[in-house]
Amino acid sequence: MPGRALPARSAESGPNAAAGGGYDRPGTPGFCIAIHAEVNALLNAPRDTTGATVYITDPPCAGCRKAMAAAGIVRVVWPDGEFDRVRMTDWSA
Ligand SMILES: [Zn+2]
Repeated sequence: MPGRALPARSAESGPNAAAGGGYDRPGTPGFCIAIHAEVNALLNAPRDTTGATVYITDPPCAGCRKAMAAAGIVRVVWPDGEFDRVRMTDWSA
């Protein structure tokens, strides 16, 4: 019905949910309650992280890659690989 607002819950998580809506809500598939170590490190960094390198134990997830890129991290390194700033946000990798 034109002009009629859908209830927020239906609009975000129902079968007609818009792309990108609802996935970050508790109880929805893919929702992660944890704060990953990378984001925790950014939140507790004692100084500006712009231009910094992050050393981690495993490849970073997409959420951490976005957070690190937004925080100005230019390189992330783990035992079997690394991303430079471009690869951190290259979703084809
Ligand atoms: Zn992560």
